[in-house]
Amino acid sequence: MEKGLISTIQGYSIKDGPGIRSTVFCVGCNLRCRWCSNPELMLPGKKVMRFSLGGEERQQEVGYEIESRALAEKLARDRMFYAETGGGVTFSGGEAALQWKFVAETAKILSGMGISSALDTAGDVPWEVLDAVTEDMEYVLYDVKTFDDAMHRRCTGRSNARILENLKKLAAKGRMLIIRMVIVPEYNDDLEDVRKRMELVKSLGACVKRVDILPYHTLGKGKYQRLGIPYPIKGKEEIPQTYWNEFRQLGVGISIVIAGEHG
Ligand code: SF4
Repeated sequence: MEKGLISTIQGYSIKDGPGIRSTVFCVGCNLRCRWCSNPELMLPGKKVMRFSLGGEERQQEVGYEIESRALAEKLARDRMFYAETGGGVTFSGGEAALQWKFVAETAKILSGMGISSALDTAGDVPWEVLDAVTEDMEYVLYDVKTFDDAMHRRCTGRSNARILENLKKLAAKGRMLIIRMVIVPEYNDDLEDVRKRMELVKSLGACVKRVDILPYHTLGKGKYQRLGIPYPIKGKEEIPQTYWNEFRQLGVGISIVIAGEHG
């Protein structure tokens, strides 16, 4: 059995794909998004977050190893909720595809139990890995952070060339896709770039089930403090309503969900 390094399993999640889901947070990511709200999952390996509570110094360990079979059996305890709501399990992170053998094996075991899986990915892995890890998955939740490569490098530290190529290959294979976009003021909110992202999404065809716009938030700030690293985002924290009106116009013809509201 393959072993993986995960931080938590979030039960009864309704934000990580269809229905009620359990989200497995895998440790480690190869991108460095400036807005990452899970720095404890971005950095590789086990780690310790330090904080004070009621005047006392405390610490919280992040990351534990688990075998695929043990994880699948744990996740299967909520199978009744998945079945009744069209839900399942979502592998997230961090970048779950970096632990692809473990994730693929767990998804295969779940599939054998009749439980649907989804991969939440930024897509910056070799195509052969992405193809293999999604083989037993019903959905792929795919981040499109920018269209422009230079903007992507500024926001995440890496090129998006492979990411956009992999997205097209997933669509060509007919994988069901939910596109995810986080819009961060002054980083990736340029409407011309959004227009190009939407054109790309439209070109992928019927395999795109919807586009989820995830709200940028600063809830991760405290975690940076606890890990002893500076919070990388500076500048505005909110996007005005007028922006979303223009944004929706660019997405006409696509099912878009902005922060939980259908549009
Ligand atoms: S891809 Fe996700 S987990 Fe990785 S750095 Fe970006 S926001 Fe964080």
